[in-house]
Amino acid sequence: MRAALATAGGRLLQAVLAGGGDGYAGPHAKCPQGHQAGYAGARDKTITTVLGPVTLSRAWYRCGACGHGFAPRDEQLGVAGQTQSPGLAEMIALAGAEASFARAAVLIAGLASITVSPRTIERSAEAAGAAAGAANAAEAAAIRERRIVPMSPPGPLPDMLYVEVDGTGVPVRASETAGRSGKGEDGKARTREVKLARLFTVSGLDAGGRPVMDPGSSTYVFSFDGKDTLAGLVKAEYLRRGGNHFRQVVAVGDGAAWIWAMAEDLYPHASHIVDIYHAREHLHDLATHLAFITHDPAAWLAGRSAELDAGNIQAIIDAASCYPLAGVKAAELDTKLGYFRNNAHRMRYADYRRLGMFTGSGAIEGGIKAVICQRAKQAGMHWTAEGAADIIALRCQQASGRWDELWPARAAQPSRLRAAI
Ligand SMILES: [Zn+2]
Repeated sequence: MRAALATAGGRLLQAVLAGGGDGYAGPHAKCPQGHQAGYAGARDKTITTVLGPVTLSRAWYRCGACGHGFAPRDEQLGVAGQTQSPGLAEMIALAGAEASFARAAVLIAGLASITVSPRTIERSAEAAGAAAGAANAAEAAAIRERRIVPMSPPGPLPDMLYVEVDGTGVPVRASETAGRSGKGEDGKARTREVKLARLFTVSGLDAGGRPVMDPGSSTYVFSFDGKDTLAGLVKAEYLRRGGNHFRQVVAVGDGAAWIWAMAEDLYPHASHIVDIYHAREHLHDLATHLAFITHDPAAWLAGRSAELDAGNIQAIIDAASCYPLAGVKAAELDTKLGYFRNNAHRMRYADYRRLGMFTGSGAIEGGIKAVICQRAKQAGMHWTAEGAADIIALRCQQASGRWDELWPARAAQPSRLRAAI
């Protein structure tokens, strides 16, 4: 039944499109370079749509000056230079963002009875992702330069806005890491780092007094181009979300220095919190370092863990500093304590709990898994950095609830025929 409807729909669409004319614009039309191009008769073009192939007859113009040939009708319908309709391109982007290109081809064939090669899916989905990335970068620049001023968020405003940041390595082809040092056995990089930021709001606490993330409140930005590029995107997203209007902004991270430098710069009034699980790892490390000299290492760690939970970082530093160490051992201890000294004001965990704040960075870790790992870090995957960025752009767009903005046929007021295909 569905196949019959698709076939009938394809015929209907072809007739509807034919009824809209062939785009004839008189004996002359302007070529993209601004020359006068001459009418060169009607030409057919077949595009693949979600209803199968549809053939268009369009007026064709040929430019004598630059040799360029074009059909004004293709521009009107959004298929210039394309063999797919915008509707099919969206379907491909959706599948290609979700699964490997080979798997996406299977899904589209199985669910929509449309045959598209994995290679076509890769090209089309990556082109959609590149367009998304470019649009987001342009929007971010416009917000930073105040050419776009986001409206204040509609009330009632959630109580807190969280900004969490983390990074992970995406496996890339050898050619993508030439000249970069890394963790591979031969000292060469096998991955490129992508940094991801997740912004979300919290309006209240659960019955146990723990904060609850507002459903659907998460938006994401990412970059393969290092912390400064990410900071620019985070700043724009923070402004777009109306960050300055929230009573409380909270920044959570793993303790990496760049995260705090960015936070001090973008939202200095925020509460800055070092993820408590990372802090506990550092505490374990500290206890191991001192195990040779502490009377009862397990009890020592338990005591310090309680102090960490209470946010009493000075007690940890004091307890670790009372042993007569010298030389390398003392120098190493100093380095390890530096983590606690530098971050003590970001480790007031008892206060954070009392104020109803998250003390862990579970939200960004979940985001890294869902947005990046589940698609980009599967067994056997080797990306180009560009290809990975394109697909992650699509996934961010979707995870941020901004998918529809990618498709002008729906977001803006398009011609009705353009929206139809
Ligand atoms: Zn020309």
